[in-house]
Amino acid sequence: MLVSGRLVGLDQHVEIEVIEGVFSTITKVKDNGFDSQGVFIAPPLIDVQVNGFAGYDLNSDDVKVEDVCQMVKSLWKTGTGFCCPTIVTGSHQRMSRSIQAVTAALKDDAIGSSIIGIHVEGPYISPQDGPRGAHSKEHVRRPDWDEFQRWQDIAEGQIKILTLAPETEGAIALIEKLTASGVVVAIGHTSAKYQQIQDAIRSGATMSTHLGNGAHAQICRHPNYIWDQLAADELHASFIVDGHHLPPSVVKSMFRAKGLERTILVSDAVHLAGLQPGRYQFGGRDIELTADQSVRLYGTDYLAGSAIELVRGVENSVKFAGISLDQAFQLATVRPAGVLGLDNRIGSIQVDRNADYITFQWDELESKINVLSTVIGGQNRN
Ligand SMILES: [Zn+2]
Repeated sequence: MLVSGRLVGLDQHVEIEVIEGVFSTITKVKDNGFDSQGVFIAPPLIDVQVNGFAGYDLNSDDVKVEDVCQMVKSLWKTGTGFCCPTIVTGSHQRMSRSIQAVTAALKDDAIGSSIIGIHVEGPYISPQDGPRGAHSKEHVRRPDWDEFQRWQDIAEGQIKILTLAPETEGAIALIEKLTASGVVVAIGHTSAKYQQIQDAIRSGATMSTHLGNGAHAQICRHPNYIWDQLAADELHASFIVDGHHLPPSVVKSMFRAKGLERTILVSDAVHLAGLQPGRYQFGGRDIELTADQSVRLYGTDYLAGSAIELVRGVENSVKFAGISLDQAFQLATVRPAGVLGLDNRIGSIQVDRNADYITFQWDELESKINVLSTVIGGQNRN
């Protein structure tokens, strides 16, 4: 099979030969009348934080393996080829059931090849209003290595990221154990002081989760936990670039402060993402999905999750931060792959690697991406 188009990252028209699901050759070809209607080729997007999509909620009380599979399949249509299903704060049993459902979905070859690990966000986070975000206060608790190990057993070792607040009692000891066992520790939903962030880093934390969100509405201008994490070169940081969680100027400033080398895009999508705008029930609350893809508590300005596809985050990064399409793609491909230690396998298009790619059209004026296909291991997934 031959794939033809402009390769993102190379900024060159190429022909790529795929043999038995593997990139065999990549040949540069002369641009002949290439225009804005032309096809672009890029690695599939990698979303390390997605709670649900297209109506499928990984954190519902009755989540089933089929929900996980349908979520992954819906993500394929949007250009996201790889993801970390994200399980958020809840009772031990509810979180166990969600982890169990994802682990069962991993047994399916096609679904399993797209799930690159489970992200557990909480429950060892700040109980304070603001940093806690939309996580249930009732279920926030102290770090518990035994509980985590039970989940990791259910997950057959597939929990790859844990987001916690380093100021919680016992968090630093937990970080040491987690990192020794190969789990990426991310700082998030936190009100940590400078020294607590430094202690977390020294114990192995390597990431900040959706920096700038899961925070107090008002904080001391400086110092505070946002500056302290922005300044920490040891930490990659993920950002929700949906145009609602962070204003455009903040996205631009934070990208520059953190540096594109350490910046990761996540969708943090909830199950309403990909649905029609309207009023829904979510966790017993009245929620509105607006036409501009924000999820709010009905009749208020309070955000109750994100409703973007990760590809919208790529578009917005170009628009808000003034970076190139190539740079924006890196934030959602090779960068998250690197944090998980998977950049030798996914996140870029290279000869002898699995033929994982997307094709799309790019409207530069409108900063819009129209995904045409998502291909994993040479198989078209949409
Ligand atoms: Zn969160």
